[in-house]
Amino acid sequence: MTVCSVCGGTRFERRAVLGDLLAEEWGLTARERDYVDRQQGCQCVGCGANLRSIALAEALRTVFGTESLLGDFVKTERARKFSVLEINEAGFLTPVLAAMPGHVFRTYPDIDMHAMPFAEGTFDVVTHSDTLEHVADPVRALAECRRILTPNGALCFTIPIIVDRMTRSRAGLPKSYHGNPDVRAEDYVVHWEFGADAWTRVMEAGFSSVQTIAVDYPAALALIARP
Ligand SMILES: [Zn+2]
Repeated sequence: MTVCSVCGGTRFERRAVLGDLLAEEWGLTARERDYVDRQQGCQCVGCGANLRSIALAEALRTVFGTESLLGDFVKTERARKFSVLEINEAGFLTPVLAAMPGHVFRTYPDIDMHAMPFAEGTFDVVTHSDTLEHVADPVRALAECRRILTPNGALCFTIPIIVDRMTRSRAGLPKSYHGNPDVRAEDYVVHWEFGADAWTRVMEAGFSSVQTIAVDYPAALALIARP
């Protein structure tokens, strides 16, 4: 049984979020479509976090070194020690992380992930969720995350990963969009469809380790990268 790492909830409800057009552009099999749909549309009744956000919360708990639920940890004295950069709304975790005094929130593309406006070693934790697939050069964006981390810091993030295939670029393919199918905005355009080799991008960016956290494999995965 899945337990919500944010609030401890055990009741989930599921709604379908993935449109036919996106599933077709992405070339998903019925099984892949089902697990991507659960990743995005299966939500904790208690706090509203979807499986993707719960996987990210689990990665953050690992990095914070806490046994507490994320929703409880952020209010503790120890949480005050961490500086956290959240880029682009890390799933449903923004209001949770905002309880930490060291929380900084910036949206993409208002900041350019290829050249972030922060000095080296500024943050203990950098986090983003389902953002890297919308970035032209994910390796450079990851290298930027690494640059602004403290030496003992960590990057926690999610990307949609189709585990039975390799990463492909959508360059030269018809434009595909995430988010509301009626709003085909440029910031939602998909540049990359990540596969089983997604971790190699992290290593290419100069990180020394990458860890995969699974809450519900393969629907809910989050990655932890350490400098
Ligand atoms: Zn919850």
